[in-house]
Amino acid sequence: MKKICSILILFVAFLSSAQNLYLHCGQLVDTKNGTLVPSQTIIVYGDKIIAIEKGYVVPENSEDIIIDLKSKTVLPGLIDMHVHLENEYNPKRYMEQFTANEADVAFKSVNFAKTTLMAGFTTVRDLGGTGVNIALRNAINNKLIVGPRIFTAGKAIATTGGHADPTNGRKKLLMGDPGPEQGVINSPDEARKAVRQRYKNGADNIKITATGGVLSVAKNGQNPQFTIEEVKAICETAKDYGMIVAAHAHGDEGMQRAVIGGVTTIEHGTKMSTKTMDLMKQYGTYFVPTITAGKAVAENATIEGFYPKIIVPKALEIGPKIQSTFAKAYKRGVRIAFGTDAGVFPHGLNAKEFGYMVEVGMPPMEAIQSATVTNAKILGLSNEIGQIKVGFIADIVATDTNPIDDISALERITFVMKDGVVYKN
Ligand SMILES: [Zn+2]
Repeated sequence: MKKICSILILFVAFLSSAQNLYLHCGQLVDTKNGTLVPSQTIIVYGDKIIAIEKGYVVPENSEDIIIDLKSKTVLPGLIDMHVHLENEYNPKRYMEQFTANEADVAFKSVNFAKTTLMAGFTTVRDLGGTGVNIALRNAINNKLIVGPRIFTAGKAIATTGGHADPTNGRKKLLMGDPGPEQGVINSPDEARKAVRQRYKNGADNIKITATGGVLSVAKNGQNPQFTIEEVKAICETAKDYGMIVAAHAHGDEGMQRAVIGGVTTIEHGTKMSTKTMDLMKQYGTYFVPTITAGKAVAENATIEGFYPKIIVPKALEIGPKIQSTFAKAYKRGVRIAFGTDAGVFPHGLNAKEFGYMVEVGMPPMEAIQSATVTNAKILGLSNEIGQIKVGFIADIVATDTNPIDDISALERITFVMKDGVVYKN
């Protein structure tokens, strides 16, 4: 009893001595209204923003701490809707499927998560790995390791031989016949089972591969790979469990089926026709461009031996097209969500995407909004992240120069706070 009492006293003492943090901000990016607000003080207590005051407020309590960001532009933590934290592409990747154990994948992913956070991305959606990404999320939430807040799809769902069928390209003996648990479905019933299995495994959302893909060991990078009925079964079941669905898609037909079937986001969208763009506007589907990944695969494909031979023509054809598709979709009024496909290129370079978006016509403020308020909305967290606002989670980052004048400033984040904890200053 005595021991319990002393622990309790210690705990109360800890609470009462907790300090407020006063962040003196040169200028704040108001992501809701798309404006810059000069000379503000953000007051953080625990993991929350408890006040925002005009000017530089000095705390009365001597225990409170001032963080000087007066020379910086301060914005809410960035959100990337498409990453793969389990791995990072390299020429040995195919062999690693046969040589790396889950623990090997896990140890690597710890560094990728940290790198991502230090680049200013305080929240990410992980769109597919082996399931280690679920353990990674838990380890971060339990403060065992440092990384962004993760919403993960666990293992993606494909159809037999489709992009994300885990045994593509293997000899028959090693192919087997993977089913819903491994993320391979061939009917609406199996589709439902795969979603429920992911829920059971602890996934937060669902990823499907609606068309062929560039980096799978398969010939076609854009053919439709799900029926509308299968997509509908996935989306309806996901909805039952409060999960949204992301659809990887390069080809137009598969993309249309995904939109009509009810997915929330289209990833890559390479060969999106104007008809599909209009359909997306009609259905309220978001486009997650991943331009950075497109550029990276096209570049890597020119390096002899970087990818298996069957991938090279797909990478050269599809990769360079994504940026111009993004430009057309943006101009046509398709809703844009920020996402990069980090892991296809080195983690931590996520902010390059901003430059590619701005380069073809999106104003810098809108690009920032796509990575903050828009992504928060898609994740159902509009009242928690994506803005610097009283009552919101204290996810705050800063740049030395103004990203509205030079968007590449976001590639050089010099301050990172997540959940009220400073990770970089
Ligand atoms: Zn991806």
